[in-house]
Amino acid sequence: MIFDLHSHTTFSDGVLSPPELLLRATENGVDVLAITDHDTVDAFQDLPPACEKITLVPGIEFSTQWESTGIHVLGLNIDPGSDAISAGSRFQTDARAERARRIGENLEKQGIEGAFAGAAALSAGSYIGRPHFAKHLVNTGQSKSIQAAFKQYLGMGKAGDVRQHWAGLAQVIEWIRDANGIAVLAHPLKYKMTRTRLKRLLDYFIQEGGQGMEVVSGKQLPYQTAGMAQLCEEKNLLASCGSDFHMPDKVWAELGKLAPLPRNVTPVWDRF
Ligand code: AMP
Ligand code: MN
Ligand code: MN
Ligand code: MN
Repeated sequence: MIFDLHSHTTFSDGVLSPPELLLRATENGVDVLAITDHDTVDAFQDLPPACEKITLVPGIEFSTQWESTGIHVLGLNIDPGSDAISAGSRFQTDARAERARRIGENLEKQGIEGAFAGAAALSAGSYIGRPHFAKHLVNTGQSKSIQAAFKQYLGMGKAGDVRQHWAGLAQVIEWIRDANGIAVLAHPLKYKMTRTRLKRLLDYFIQEGGQGMEVVSGKQLPYQTAGMAQLCEEKNLLASCGSDFHMPDKVWAELGKLAPLPRNVTPVWDRF
């Protein structure tokens, strides 16, 4: 069985619509797919008629922060129609709008004019995020590539890395649990934390009701997977795996093309 429990559609920053994503996942042999758009569950209103080949797990990826680091928390197997998820995505949508304005202001201080308007023109629906700013910077010749835009202006610690608007970590976990979902720490290696600090984050995450972590996330080396599995076991968490697929390109892993979960961990789907 192939599980891919982290993916994005056009309702956040992915390039495939939900039906296109499901088709691609099916073609790639995925048996169980979670759609986990950033701070929204709108994808679940745009699904094709029941597809027998694949089991769809409703999910969401909440943006939050802990201490000074931006953190992502997946809600897996949530009830997307629940009051908690509606309240959560409404709060986060407002936070995104406010944050986008702030990102624009911060970029202006760096001499980049009109980035907010440019990013807003590229976004549709409730999601506006750093990928829109990156695309705008590339379109206007101010960055060579999306990667370069993140490196210079938008990535961790840069002017466009604005985090203070998000709901707190305890709050996003509460929304997920109230929606009968499982809160899973997304891509733990992406935060570039020391092992000690990551353990501290996990302790707080667990204390607040978090239950799982991604042991396999996207393109990852075997030693990294082994390290995450060890941490997962040590902290008694459920293990998840996901491509974090956004689009077919070199940056992102392909849907369903993931290393298997190591045997020493308990898969999160045991609790679905
Ligand atoms: P935001 O939701 O506005 O915080 O934007 C975060 C999103 O930007 C992530 O989910 C990624 O899809 C994308 N992203 C972050 N870093 C990079 C990068 N270096 N290159 C391309 N996309 C990135
Ligand atoms: Mn994204
Ligand atoms: Mn993420
Ligand atoms: Mn993601």
